[in-house]
Amino acid sequence: MSGAGAERTAAIAAQVETFVRDIIVPYEQDPRRDHHGAPTEELVDEMREKARAAGLMTPHILSDGGHLTQRETALVLQKSGLSPFGALALNTNAPDEGNMYLLGKVGSEEMKQRFLKPMIEGRARSAFFMTEPAEEGGAGSDPSMMQTTCRLDGNHWVINGRKAFITGALGAKVGIVMAKAPEVEHGSGACMFLVDLPDPAIRIEHVPNTIDNSMPGGHSTVAIENLRVPASQMLGEAGEGFQYAQIRLAPARLSHCMRWLGACIRCHEIATDYANRRQAFGKALIDHEGVGFMLADNLIDLKQCELMIDWCAGVLDSGSLGTAESSMAKVAVSEALMRVADRCVQVMGGTGVTDKTIVERVFREIRAFRIYDGPTEVHKWSLAKKIKRDWAKAQQ
Ligand SMILES: Cc1cc2nc3c(=O)[nH]c(=O)nc-3n(C[C@H](O)[C@H](O)[C@H](O)COP(=O)(O)OP(=O)(O)OC[C@H]3O[C@@H](n4cnc5c(N)ncnc54)[C@H](O)[C@@H]3O)c2cc1C
Repeated sequence: MSGAGAERTAAIAAQVETFVRDIIVPYEQDPRRDHHGAPTEELVDEMREKARAAGLMTPHILSDGGHLTQRETALVLQKSGLSPFGALALNTNAPDEGNMYLLGKVGSEEMKQRFLKPMIEGRARSAFFMTEPAEEGGAGSDPSMMQTTCRLDGNHWVINGRKAFITGALGAKVGIVMAKAPEVEHGSGACMFLVDLPDPAIRIEHVPNTIDNSMPGGHSTVAIENLRVPASQMLGEAGEGFQYAQIRLAPARLSHCMRWLGACIRCHEIATDYANRRQAFGKALIDHEGVGFMLADNLIDLKQCELMIDWCAGVLDSGSLGTAESSMAKVAVSEALMRVADRCVQVMGGTGVTDKTIVERVFREIRAFRIYDGPTEVHKWSLAKKIKRDWAKAQQ
């Protein structure tokens, strides 16, 4: 990165960092939480008002609607992740960030005005409806198992099915719903729709208690019963829904890496501070090799994550879908950051498992990152298939 673009990005990233550290970090102890422990809508609105006043709402999307490059986005999103509430306040959070990216790429002008604009302004949250209940044999690691159906009825598609783990569905105003059209022979039959929420045909059945609690709305199980969507609200072509999902997939999974890197950098700072101040057996913890080595391993993992993200972002910026590269980055970063968070807890002893600092929360919540946006094993499995394909090609 060089020139005016780099300077602009460095300035945005610096402003975001100052905002998160000075304004958002104090909210981490705010008691306004819902019964799942997530920040209430009132708390989210209050933090967002402050981001807006600072001119930092959705900082990775510019005033002309243009998106920073992925390498630039990495710098900004990493800073927004320095607090578990940072990305929420600044509107760089999942699933909105990935949904905005997708709409910006493939939405019509009308869709952008109606659905994307309020999302960029931070006035509408969104949800992505892909996964289905495992106990019913629906889509999970394998999206081709999708059971939710859509059928054309005049000028409308009628959607029926059940979805699971839909982050933020409760309280969202925009939904992107995936369904399969049995009558469509083109492609996989998968279709993607933009829908207004709430809609009585999309019923939140249950919000399970989960390992994480930073996400307003939690991760809902949802019943979709005769949802009628105008044909004009299909994203892309019928049958090509999975291809469109691919456009969202790599940048979305990389943006998780960016935010979690920020969170783990902060945890490492907190653990370092603890290890320097706390004494045991006549000296600071950091002077015990066992502790010093844990912090050294953190530094190495954090740098490797930064480099992996920058490399993958560069691949996406070159115009590639980056499917294999983002699989590699997602596995490497999620596994390394899990180790970093675990070491931070260990360095801090009992304090590490209390809610006095964000270390406990990050350790708990980052566990799910090894599962969502593709479990580690699924990424490795698809990379192994590619290795086999490439080998076979090389033999010809
Ligand atoms: C916190 C959280 C938020 C989420 N938010 C959303 C959301 O907003 N929208 C949405 O649509 N979905 C969401 N999901 C769902 C997520 O995408 C799925 O959990 C994920 O795709 C895995 O599907 P599954 O849970 O059905 O696991 P399963 O498909 O049952 O897989 C279970 C395990 O089997 C193993 N496995 C599967 N396939 C293979 C393979 N080929 N090789 C080796 N091992 C394999 C893996 O270890 C995997 O973890 C969310 C999940 C979580 C935990």
